[in-house]
Amino acid sequence: MGGCVTHDIHIIGGGLAGSEAAWQLAQAGYKVRLSEMRGSGEMTPAHQSDRLAELVCSNSFRSDDADSNAVGLLHQEMRALGSLILTQGDIHKVPAGSALAVDRDGFADGVTAALEAHPNVTIVRERVDSLPAEGRTIIATGPLTAPMLAESIGRATGKDSLAFFDAIAPIVHRESIDMETAWFQSRWNKGSGKDYINCPMSKEQYLEFHAALMAGEKTEFREWENVPYFEGCMPIEVMAERGVDTLRYGPMKGVGLDDPRTGRWPYAVVQLRQDNASGTLWNMVGFQTKLKYAEQVRLFRTIPGLENAEFARLGGLHRNTFLRSPELLDGTLRLKSAPNIRFAGQITGCEGYVESAAIGMLAGRFAAAEIAGVDLPAPPRETALGALLSHITGEAEIETYQPMNVNFGLFPPIEGRTKKADRKRMYTDRARAALKDWLAA
Ligand SMILES: Cc1cc2nc3c(=O)[nH]c(=O)nc-3n(C[C@H](O)[C@H](O)[C@H](O)COP(=O)(O)OP(=O)(O)OC[C@H]3O[C@@H](n4cnc5c(N)ncnc54)[C@H](O)[C@@H]3O)c2cc1C
Repeated sequence: MGGCVTHDIHIIGGGLAGSEAAWQLAQAGYKVRLSEMRGSGEMTPAHQSDRLAELVCSNSFRSDDADSNAVGLLHQEMRALGSLILTQGDIHKVPAGSALAVDRDGFADGVTAALEAHPNVTIVRERVDSLPAEGRTIIATGPLTAPMLAESIGRATGKDSLAFFDAIAPIVHRESIDMETAWFQSRWNKGSGKDYINCPMSKEQYLEFHAALMAGEKTEFREWENVPYFEGCMPIEVMAERGVDTLRYGPMKGVGLDDPRTGRWPYAVVQLRQDNASGTLWNMVGFQTKLKYAEQVRLFRTIPGLENAEFARLGGLHRNTFLRSPELLDGTLRLKSAPNIRFAGQITGCEGYVESAAIGMLAGRFAAAEIAGVDLPAPPRETALGALLSHITGEAEIETYQPMNVNFGLFPPIEGRTKKADRKRMYTDRARAALKDWLAA
C-alpha cells in the first residue's frame, strides 16, 4: 500500500471479528480501511462467497439465554455495546428455541451492506501478504489466514508461536470432579507434589474403556484440512488403535502415583492438569480426540471421578491458525513486540463466531480509545467480555494454550457455598452489575 494514507486504521480480514472491529471504529468516528481477500479472486477453503462475516458452517450463535449461559450473557453484553454482528443476528433471526440462529445469507448481506454504507469504512478487496511495519493495524484473518500472511506473522512472533492446527483435549470444571475418588498428586511427587488430579482405573475398567474408545464414533476431517498427527498430540483413539497397552504406557500410565484408597499404583490413570491461573478449569492430559461430542461426554463420564464431569470444552482437532496469545499479546490485544498491531478474532485463540466477534469488538474499541488518546480499562473479569479477554491475554496456561469458547470457568469463581442451581444466575447477575459499572466509568 503506498501513497497518501487516508485512514486512521487498517483492518485485515472481513470475517466476524474484522467486521465488528470496523463497525466499532467507524461508529467512533474513525476512518477504516478494511482489506478482505475474498472478492479479489481469492477464497479460503471453507468460505463460499464474497460476503463479509460469512458463517462457514452452522448458522447458530448458540444459546441466547443471558441468565444461565455464558455465551447468552456475551450476546447481551455485545448488544449493550452496539454490536453490528448481534444487531444483524437479531434482524435475521430464525426460530431455534432458546438459541440465536440466523438466516446466513440475510445475515452476511446485512453486515456487508451496513459496512458498505458507512461513510467511515472503505472496503478493499485485496489479499495482504505481510504484517505492516507501521500504521495502526488489526489482524483479523481467522483460522484460515492466507499462507503468506501467516508466514509473515510467524516470522514476527517467533518459532512455535503460531499454530496451524489445534489439538484440543477436553477441559473439565474443577468443581464437577469427584475428589472422593480422584486425588491430587504429581507423578513421583515431582513439582509441588500435587500438580495433577488423578482418576484411577482398575484393569477391568481400563479394558472396557479401551474397547469403547476403539468403537466410538469419530468425526471425519474435511478433505482440505490435511491435519497431520504429531507424535506429541496424537488423538487418544488413534493411540488406542496401536495396541491395548499403548495408552497404559503412554498418557494413562499409573506408575509413580499412589492411590490413597489402596496405597498402590493404579492399573491405569487419567490425569488432569490445571488450565487457568484461578484453577477453575482442568484439562485431560493427552486426551485430544476426534470422537464425536456426545460420544466424548458419554465415554469420559465412565472414568472414575468424572461421572458427573461438566465439560467447559470438548476435544477436537482442526486446521486452525492461532497465536500463543497469553504470551504475545498485551491486555488490549496489542502484539507486545510491535504495539502498532492488534490481533482479533479466532487467530487470538478464542473459538466460535460470537467469541470472535466479541474480541473484534474489543480490539476496535481499544484502538478507538488509543487514537482518541484516552485510556480504556479492560472490561472487568466478572463480565463475559472481560473473562474471555483475560483468558486470551494472560490468564490461560501458555504451554497448553488451545482455542477456547466462553464459559463460566473463565470467570472468577463465586465465593462461598452456593446451590448449584443458583450459581449460573449469580455469575450472570454479577456480570451485569460489573458491566454497568464499567460502562458508567
Ligand atoms: C471449517 C470451519 C467450520 C467452523 N464452524 C463453526 C461453527 O459451526 N460455529 C462457530 O461458532 N464457529 C465455527 N468455526 C470457527 C469460525 O471460523 C470462527 O468462529 C469465525 O469465523 C472466526 O471469525 P474470524 O473473524 O476470526 O475469522 P473469519 O470469519 O474466518 O474471517 C477471516 C477473514 O479474513 C480473510 N483473510 C484471510 N487471510 C487474508 C489475507 N491475507 N488478506 C486479506 N484477507 C484475508 C478471510 O477471507 C476471511 O474473510 C468454524 C471454522 C472453520 C474453519
